[in-house]
Amino acid sequence: MDYQALFDAKEVVVGLLYLISAIFFVVGIKNLSKPKTAPRGNMLGAAGMFIAFVTAFLDFGIHIGPGVIEVTFDYWYILVAAIGLGAVIGVWSALGVKMTGMPQMVAIFNGFGGGASLLVAGVFYQFELETTSASELAIPMLVATVLSGLIGAVTFSGSLIAYGKLQGLKIIPGKPVSYKGDLAVKLILLVAALTLGIIMLLNPGMIGWYWFIVAAGIILGVLLVIGIGGADMPVVISLLNSYSGLAAAATGFVLGNIVLIIAGSLVGASGLILTMIMCKAMNRSLVNVLFGGFGGDSASSGESADSMYEGKITQTSSEEVAMVLESARRVVFVPGYGMAVARAATPVRQLSEALEKAGVEVAFGIHPVAGRMPGHMNVLLAEESIPYDKLLDLDSVNPTFKQTDVVIVIGANDVVNPSARDEHSPISGMPILDVDQAQTCVVIKRSLSPGFAGIPNPLFAKDNTLMLFGDGKKMMEELVKEYKEL
Ligand code: NDP
Repeated sequence: MDYQALFDAKEVVVGLLYLISAIFFVVGIKNLSKPKTAPRGNMLGAAGMFIAFVTAFLDFGIHIGPGVIEVTFDYWYILVAAIGLGAVIGVWSALGVKMTGMPQMVAIFNGFGGGASLLVAGVFYQFELETTSASELAIPMLVATVLSGLIGAVTFSGSLIAYGKLQGLKIIPGKPVSYKGDLAVKLILLVAALTLGIIMLLNPGMIGWYWFIVAAGIILGVLLVIGIGGADMPVVISLLNSYSGLAAAATGFVLGNIVLIIAGSLVGASGLILTMIMCKAMNRSLVNVLFGGFGGDSASSGESADSMYEGKITQTSSEEVAMVLESARRVVFVPGYGMAVARAATPVRQLSEALEKAGVEVAFGIHPVAGRMPGHMNVLLAEESIPYDKLLDLDSVNPTFKQTDVVIVIGANDVVNPSARDEHSPISGMPILDVDQAQTCVVIKRSLSPGFAGIPNPLFAKDNTLMLFGDGKKMMEELVKEYKEL
């Protein structure tokens, strides 16, 4: 038997299967770019991962050498148990998570991704040290190990802190923690970690250096994220997502595993693009998000809520709003985070259908950072089968507000805050939905509390604004009832 030919054939099959799984990832990500095709994108990604699993078993389980063909997979039962446990935890958490808790879930998964990358790279490095002489270790592999350890550690600890902040864990302060010289401390740590990396490259025989790099990375991750405020956490999570991809790609280089390199690079690049999209939608630079300390005391600067609202709030009832709607010809709904919390998308759809039935032109104005993730509102409205052509983005909907009779703002706050037009506001320059230009603006929320950015909203005090206080779902259901009874 030609064992060499068999070995080559196995390598070709493994390479092809990895390539197929990478194609699934690329096409999956492409599908994720539109709400309509996103579910298919998820399925393609999962299928790609399944093919990658099976291929890894084939790759490492079938040994072909001179005179031998063996199928052995050491510790396969541990791996199967780990994969099974991971799958159960993954399905359980994905089914149980609320839409509003998604950023936390992404954060924790990013963290585990970073942790897994640094452990795999470290264990492989240890294995290489035991089986090869240190001087024979290739420099590119060592550089990739250093990067995997450092980026993986920053991702791991940073993501856990991000999770704690978003989850409101008492031991982790939600506001940015700053202290004198914090930037210098972070820079010193980064330089120390990189110096340790260089020492490891020059002395590759000692695994200890690797774990020192990991320790420095863990402290750095904590310090980087602890200094960022709650309002910026989704951006940080997206950035950490990108880091987790880079760590995975670096581990792919360590192992020489092509699919890990491709999947990691895809996550790294798409996470970075998403981060930049979020920054643009908030008119912030990434440097400002990472080191600006937004969400702390600075966010509460500007006019106080009391003086802004005193004697200027017009409270309304669902009955009155229904009457205003009766004479409207164009109505725009503007959903925000509160619609997600209240689970009010169904009555929103019902009211929009009732309005359309009465000949009213209806549209939905969607801000790119409404809610807690890009596309948050699109997903909720798509679940209600609201046609995509009714969901207008910022550029399409803003010019129409002047010709709009009624805007119904449901659970949105920062994305409709006109103080963004004021150069002294903490959200100065953030593009907003110009709902105050409509003839009447109805705002549905429970109180005058601020949104995620923690600043008061002059929209509530405008002459053409009517405040309908209450839970989003309850108020929308009442509105549907009142409107249908007219
Ligand atoms: P906001 O967080 O500004 O406001 C949400 C409002 O919903 C609150 O003021 C709250 O008021 C109200 N609310 C909460 N629960 C309910 C309920 N049950 N019924 C009715 N209303 C409710 O939300 P926006 O969507 O306007 O803005 C998103 C914010 O998140 C922005 O600051 C954005 O920069 C930030 N962000 C978003 C990202 C994204 O990708 N989407 C990324 C990064 C940051 P009350 O308590 O009075 O009811």
